Amino acid sequence: MAGLTKEHVLRALGSVRHPTRDGDVVSLGMITGVVIKGGNVGLSIEIDPSEAPVSEPLRRACEQAVKNLAGVTSVTAVLTAERAPGDRPAAPPPTLGRQETPARPAVPGVGAIVAVASGKGGVGKSTTAVNLAMGLAALGQRVGLLDADIYGPSLPRMTGAAGRPNATSGQKLRPMESYGVKIMSMGFLVEEDTPMIWRGPMVQSAIQQMLSDVEWGELDVMVVDLPPGTGDAQLTMAQRVPLTGAVIVSTPQDIALLDARKAINMFRKVDVPILGIVENMSYYCCPKCGHRAEIFAHGGARLCAERYGVDFLAEIPLDAEIRELSDAGRPIVLARPESPQAQAYLRLAMSVRDKLAELAGGKARRFPRIVWA
Ligand code: ADP
Repeated sequence: MAGLTKEHVLRALGSVRHPTRDGDVVSLGMITGVVIKGGNVGLSIEIDPSEAPVSEPLRRACEQAVKNLAGVTSVTAVLTAERAPGDRPAAPPPTLGRQETPARPAVPGVGAIVAVASGKGGVGKSTTAVNLAMGLAALGQRVGLLDADIYGPSLPRMTGAAGRPNATSGQKLRPMESYGVKIMSMGFLVEEDTPMIWRGPMVQSAIQQMLSDVEWGELDVMVVDLPPGTGDAQLTMAQRVPLTGAVIVSTPQDIALLDARKAINMFRKVDVPILGIVENMSYYCCPKCGHRAEIFAHGGARLCAERYGVDFLAEIPLDAEIRELSDAGRPIVLARPESPQAQAYLRLAMSVRDKLAELAGGKARRFPRIVWA
């Protein structure tokens, strides 16, 4: 709405008192960011990690206070907690093993959730997530794509979806849509060049909201592009988001595969089935002469999969067109479906679809009905 300003938002937040400290969230200096996009408001609330138990009600109270303002259609408040790198979190650290984890957000109507993960950044995880999601859609599935890579949300660019999500009458955000796939990303809500230094609790909160405060509707599959790496944020997410399975992306070099192993171990420890490994930038095919060159030691991911007893899902070539079309927001799986590269992504989508059907058939199903507890 024209006229909604940061001052209006801060004034509304001034009514939210801290439950244990003397003062309101504004005078205590806890509001570290306010972003207004039309009627959509984004807030960041700085908390002390030791306050984690009282922070969620406080976050909701802040959202409610701003929601009550005229002209506000949606509010997304995220928690931030600064701590020096290497510090252990003061809030209960994520635990490994089969232990029950708290609060699994409900996303009714979503049949399966597949995380696309990588042990480190830059291996093509997001590119794979987008082409997998679009490939599943091409196979007739109803697909959602959630950009949980909030450190560097790239899905708006890669999918060509632009603009801001609208709010529904039920105060949820309507996901963006591209090529029939429903998409949500922090990239739609914050400025592209805003440097974001997100900490564990904030990441968790943002992702839970993108799961539960977005009108996803009925989906066969939701593909989640996880942040790269295997730190606290990824681990907590693997525990809290009821993932049906994970796809691990790696390049063939040993060093990348070492990280991929860490990702495999992480998912195993939290009992998330690994659907398999994708080797990205697996080999190079010269577009002019068709000569195939194994730039990195091709095949490492297949060996890694064998050694770890997980399936090998696909080899995706290193290919300029994959990057160019991705940068142009036209995933190759749809832009050039007849190309061998697109066919590789389509085979990946088929394998994932079939594995999900197998899991739903009961064999290794971890969550009895629609995955949500
Ligand atoms: P990540 O999500 O692992 O950080 P991205 O998917 O953002 O990685 O990919 C990093 C860069 O590599 C992007 O510019 C992307 O277009 C490019 N890229 C990814 N996969 C391929 C591929 N198979 N061939 C060529 N370029 C690729």
